[in-house]
Amino acid sequence: MKSRLSKGAVCASICLAACLAVMGCGTSSSASSAADASQAGQSSSTSDLSTNAQSDDAQVGSDDAKTQGIDYLALVNKNHPLPAGWEDSLKTVRMTNSVGDDVEVEKKSYDAYLKLKAALEKEGVYVDLDSARRSVEQQQKIMDDFTKKYGADYAKKTVATPGYSEHQTGLALDLYLIIDGKDVTKNEDMITYPEVWEKIHARLADYGFILRYLKGDEHITGYGYEPWHIRYVDDPAIAKEIADKGITFEEYKAGKVQPEVSYDFGKSDLYTTEELEEAAIQAKCEFATFEGCELHSLRYAGDKCNTKENLDWLNSLDEEANYTQVVELLTDFHSPVEGGGAWEADTEMKDYQWWLAREEGKGWQLVTFGY
Ligand SMILES: [Zn+2]
Repeated sequence: MKSRLSKGAVCASICLAACLAVMGCGTSSSASSAADASQAGQSSSTSDLSTNAQSDDAQVGSDDAKTQGIDYLALVNKNHPLPAGWEDSLKTVRMTNSVGDDVEVEKKSYDAYLKLKAALEKEGVYVDLDSARRSVEQQQKIMDDFTKKYGADYAKKTVATPGYSEHQTGLALDLYLIIDGKDVTKNEDMITYPEVWEKIHARLADYGFILRYLKGDEHITGYGYEPWHIRYVDDPAIAKEIADKGITFEEYKAGKVQPEVSYDFGKSDLYTTEELEEAAIQAKCEFATFEGCELHSLRYAGDKCNTKENLDWLNSLDEEANYTQVVELLTDFHSPVEGGGAWEADTEMKDYQWWLAREEGKGWQLVTFGY
């Protein structure tokens, strides 16, 4: 029988610092959420095209050290919660959009957004900010409101689990369109202007933004296509690389993990190589947080991992899940030569396990990992 992992088991086999680094990821309780509630709080009215930035210089300009504390390449998705301590170093500004809603945005992202907006206006494209930063408390409130109004099932499908929404970073912005002077804020209306979105998407990278939820990639991102949801990554060169390759942010992050690694997905009667690669992307995104570790190989453990016993075990680790398929990946990697607190220094870690599961037709969830 396979060794049974749990967060506790991971902690026992590795030291505490590594454990802190992986906390929250192993349980992945957010499996069932399906959208980011970007419509929540939206309203519709005529527009004067004006944006009233209420940034207070004393509040936003004086503490660069804190701004520097933000990792503009942090990955937050259904597998990866908001990094610990994020809100302590976050510097935000507040503005009022054309429909009178208050919107809070991470400061540098907002400055870049204003430049993007000005550039678009020169092309006759008008946008405004529908929603940007939401605190964990706000996300919880949206979840509670939706649960009250529509029931728990619908709420879980349409609202991101608090702690796992990219909007909590302050770097994710939902745009809305202003067409012929009228606010177009509803998703179902916005989606009817593909040619406008095309113009917007073409300018994103110049200002350090990427389109986050691509068409046809919901198995990787966990979300359907959202032309309005953009993400600030700060460096235009990185944004351009992601846009030019047409990849998701998850694939970009996974690709930063030793791209020359040897992969062996073997033979599977259950999964296509593409499906196994999608599972590997989720594992590699997590591996990217193992500071100083070098990945040597990654392989599929084989169809024998897809047992009822393993399914029951993984479902027991995630009370909201109803997984029907399992993938076990194994990796060999080397711990940092100089150590670094988290791992025993300069050690080859063999057959380190990554357990992923999914419900029929959904993306892989990294449920647990370790020895
Ligand atoms: Zn969004």
